[in-house]
Formats: sequence, C-alpha cells, structure tokens
Amino acid sequence: MSDNFQTHLGSWIERQEAEMISTLKEWSNINSGSYNADGVRAMAEVIASYAEECLGVDVTITDLAPIKSVNDDGDLQERSIGPMLRLSKRPEASTRVLFCGHMDTVFPKESHFQEWHQIDDNTLGGPGVADMKGGILVMLKAIQAFEQSPNAELLGWDILLNSDEEIGSISSAPFLAEAAKKAQLGLVFEPSMPDGFLAGARRGSGNYSIVVHGKAAHAGREFHLGRNSIAALSEAMNELHELNNLREEVTLNLGRISGGGPTNVVPNLAICHFNIRVSSLEDQAYAEQHVAKVVDAINKQDGFSATISGGFNRPPKPADSAQKKLFELVESCGEQLDIELGFRATGGCCDGNNLLAAGLPNIDTLGVQGGDIHSDKEYMLLDSLVKRTKLTAMILERITQDPARWL
Ligand SMILES: [Zn+2]
Repeated sequence: MSDNFQTHLGSWIERQEAEMISTLKEWSNINSGSYNADGVRAMAEVIASYAEECLGVDVTITDLAPIKSVNDDGDLQERSIGPMLRLSKRPEASTRVLFCGHMDTVFPKESHFQEWHQIDDNTLGGPGVADMKGGILVMLKAIQAFEQSPNAELLGWDILLNSDEEIGSISSAPFLAEAAKKAQLGLVFEPSMPDGFLAGARRGSGNYSIVVHGKAAHAGREFHLGRNSIAALSEAMNELHELNNLREEVTLNLGRISGGGPTNVVPNLAICHFNIRVSSLEDQAYAEQHVAKVVDAINKQDGFSATISGGFNRPPKPADSAQKKLFELVESCGEQLDIELGFRATGGCCDGNNLLAAGLPNIDTLGVQGGDIHSDKEYMLLDSLVKRTKLTAMILERITQDPARWL
C-alpha cells in the first residue's frame, strides 16, 4: 500500500496543486456569508459541478429551513439561508466514512473583505481560503485520489456540505445527526492551526437570547407605575455573569444588549444575547439550570416577564478513547508522510461536536493550515493543499486496510 501511495497517489496529488490553487482563488471571490442565501447558492452550484466532475457522483441539493433569531423588537425573525449538498458512494459497503464541510463564511455580502490576495509566495489571503473553501478542496481531491486506489472498492462514503455552520448549524443539525448514524468515521475539513496542529478536545457551545418585558411609563409624571426592563435585565445579567466564577470549565459571555428608547420613558423592553461554553455534559446541565434560575427570578418580580430562547447547539467534544485512537491514526499517517502534526484542545467548536454527540468519532481539522480566521486577515498556507490532501488520502488507505484496528 505504502509504495503504491508514494509512487502513484502521492505524485498524482502533487500534480493537482496548480489547479487547486486557481480553484481556491475562484471560490474565495464568491461571497458566501451565511445569510447571503443567493451567494451561498451560487457557491453551492459551483462546488456541486466541481464535485461531480472530480468524483463522478450526482450531487443532491437540498434547501435548509430558515434560521429563527430574536430581533431588536424581541420578536422571532426568520432569515433564509443557502442549501446543503450531499453525495454518496457505495451505500452497501460495510466500512463507511462521512465527510463534512461548510460552504458559508462569516463575511456578509456587505463586508469589505471580498477577494483573495497574495501575501507571499506560500501565503494566500482571502475570505474562506482557510475556513473552509480550502478544506472542501482538500476533501474532494483526497477522495478523488483515493478512488484510484485498489482499496477504494472497500469504502462507502457520504459527503455533506452545509451552509449554516458559521451560525451554529441549527437547520442542518438533524441531517448531520442522521448521516453520522450511518458511518463509523467522520472527517471534517476545518482549517488546522498555522503550525499544523489539529483540534483535540473541543468545548461545547450554547447561544441564548433573553427578552425582558416590563411596563412603560412617563419617567417624570408616573415613574412609580413603570417597570424598568433595563434595570431588571441588568440584575439578571450580573447573575448570568456570575456563572464565570462558579465552575472552572464554564464560561458565559454577555455578547449583545438592546432595548429602551428616550430617556424620559421607563423602558418596557430589554434584550440580551449571550454564549456559554462548557467542557462536559455535566457542566452543560449545570449552566442550563443556572440560566433557568435567573429567568425564573425575573418572572417572580411583580410586573415583569422574561422569556429565554436558544440553547446548546453544540455539545462538548471530549477526547474519549475512540477519539484518541483516531488521533493515533492521524499521527502515524503524518509520520509516514513526514508531515509534522499533533493535537491540541480548543475552546472553539464545529460540526465535529455534533457528529460525536450523534455517536460518530471524528477528526475535524483536516483542512488546510491557516490562521486569523473570522477576520479580514484570514490566510492559508498554499503548500498545505497538497500535504493535507495526501494526509486524508492516506487515512482512507489505512482504514480500508485494517478497519478493525481503527474503527
Ligand atoms: Zn469553519
């Protein structure tokens, strides 16, 4: 296997480099901000025809439900998003891999960051070059390479590319969970760290919105009849923030507030959006109870009502024994390819959290090496396109050779 890999697949992958670089530049210039539904659809169509050409499999394009979020009036608002792509090969195979990626970026249609630019010989800047258009390319090329291997006949695979990952995968979550149940291994193509390290354990994340209604009144004439929603929310926010002092591995970030109006009116509406990160399901339950208690306390006050929406959309992803076995597999492939890599825990989360929560062990940072993601300084290292494509192709070789050892 190894000889065949080095002489045939490895050099085939090397010959794809120029084409991969020009494709990545083209993809980076298509705006696919999560809420730019038309832009994501255009991106999805380009990726779909590229994938069909590389892999010779028909792509299924499925619309995703709009995202509901609390707006500044305290009402639930629907926003449409782009579609999801799915491809499938050899559904009858007993060894099955699920490949996941996202086509959306954090850069809205109005962002000033719209096009790729060359930073130096080996560094390309641009929206999504690392997170994760580069990763999608690595995924598709690695599968295309592996399909030339004699071992390919032993492997069934599904690809799921969603368009709401950057906003929490709310609409694609049921599809991710369903796909996870059919596979024994998940491979996700988020960028690895600039030094080549991959994500080990990941924390879980929940997004919440709390809406407090009080009672409006004239601030001078009838102040005593009013119920100040901003004051009630402020107390509640202090209580929420207190969660940061209660458990070491739990953090709560008060992210955004809105409400109120002219200063001569007692405000009847105040809203706060916040995010919680946890490392275990036990801490998640603890945090959920804390939030419920705070909301309850507002509702017990005369003249106030509070509602909470949202919740934990990504459970924690601990480095359990199945995960550790996969780390070992990736490290040994890296050694064989002479690529330096390792694993490091991170507070960030991704669809890998969802897959593990659905019972699917997975490696989630198999995309290109890159950094400063989610900012207009986002970049990727061009030589990692070939390196990471080889890494994934080799992982597929190794697991088809000895599935019992790794899965
Ligand atoms: Zn990403």
